[in-house]
Amino acid sequence: MLWKNLEGTGDHKASKAWLDVWKERTGYTGTPPCGRKGCGNTATLGGHVKKVGSTDNSWYLLPLCDSCNKLKDPFEKKESISVASAAK
Ligand SMILES: [Zn+2]
Repeated sequence: MLWKNLEGTGDHKASKAWLDVWKERTGYTGTPPCGRKGCGNTATLGGHVKKVGSTDNSWYLLPLCDSCNKLKDPFEKKESISVASAAK
């Protein structure tokens, strides 16, 4: 399963940081690593991502570091890091 960053989600705001929303919805405690497979950075934000090549066009949250949040190409996700719904 490949994932890609959604663009233009800056106007999609929640009452708290999306990384905190992700933690709430996944029950993760502490600071997660960046969710992109092969990246060793710590996540700094909750990125908005979607599945590539799927009929599921839902928006999901995935912890990412700043540089992975700017990736335009599809990437693989760490299996240990779950996505959460990005619904408000
Ligand atoms: Zn990263």
